[in-house]
Amino acid sequence: MDFRSDTFTQPTPPMLEAMLKAPTGDDVFGEDPSVRELEARMSALFGMEAALYCPSGTMSNQIAIKVHTRPGDEVICSSLAHVYIYEGGGIAFNSGAQARPIEGDRGMISAADVAAAVNPTDDDHKATTSLVCLENTSNRGGGCCYDWDEILRIRETCNQHNLRLHLDGARLFNALLATGQPAADYGRTFDSISVCLNKGLGCPIGSVLLGSKDFIREAKRVRKKLGGGMRQAGYMAATGIYALDHHIDRLAEDHAHAKTIAAALLEQSFVGHMLPVETNILIFDVHGDWTPVKFRDYLAKHGIRVMAISPTQLRIVTHLGITADMVKHTVEVIRSMS
Ligand SMILES: *Cc1c(COP(=O)(O)O)cnc(C)c1O
Repeated sequence: MDFRSDTFTQPTPPMLEAMLKAPTGDDVFGEDPSVRELEARMSALFGMEAALYCPSGTMSNQIAIKVHTRPGDEVICSSLAHVYIYEGGGIAFNSGAQARPIEGDRGMISAADVAAAVNPTDDDHKATTSLVCLENTSNRGGGCCYDWDEILRIRETCNQHNLRLHLDGARLFNALLATGQPAADYGRTFDSISVCLNKGLGCPIGSVLLGSKDFIREAKRVRKKLGGGMRQAGYMAATGIYALDHHIDRLAEDHAHAKTIAAALLEQSFVGHMLPVETNILIFDVHGDWTPVKFRDYLAKHGIRVMAISPTQLRIVTHLGITADMVKHTVEVIRSMS
């Protein structure tokens, strides 16, 4: 039972079946029908002009940052943003740009934060602010979801200051489900969106980058430079098509499982602060006799893997590899702790 991340999913037998049946071609030549279908379906779903299949969410984000910025520019994001803390310094390495991390709330920033962080264009001391990156759901924020009205205010602020707006939507489908916001609203509002297929959607690899036709044309050139042009990628894209058909609605189960486990944890006196559980991620403190490492090792003895993410915090993530029976067993093990 692996609760460390929703990246630990294995393709289901019908997903493997879909891979075997996929029509493929050379996608570097634009001739892979399965990749084309995945890209077309994703751009239609979000009402965006074009899409690009990429090997990873990191590559999608990094391509977007590269296309939206010039060397020396500044990128506004949360200090907990994946693009800032988990992409190997890629903003500097790939784009020669620098991050302007903002403290924010659980990995989310506000329009006021953005307005305060934009550099004046008439001061040569200052880097040119060109891009704002949001993350929804926020991974380090415990899978929390942005308030839609705040996103619209951030868009407005970006318009006032001539900034592009990118969304790291690694878990955007979890946010859409939890908030009921239509996908097309996101497509209308962001200049680019990256969506992971390898998280809750249960694909082995892959991410889709969305944007305008011009943006995606540039993005494709950057993907090539990064070595992300893949040949018969349709075998993998087929898993994405399968996931769009079969793994979106079921995310509700993951959210319900997360709430069930959260309730069991909160009954325990050694569990301290827990970030609000809005989707499939739980982040919580333990104290007293239980350190995160001790807690993790105890669960491991019962066949349950969780992650200790700081000297006080643990993380539990639900996904399609976690069944109702596994959740039941986990709740029993948590109740056995004292
Ligand atoms: C996982 C993740 C990514 C990208 O991850 P890859 O492993 O490179 O696909 C990007 N942003 C967030 C918030 C993530 O959780």
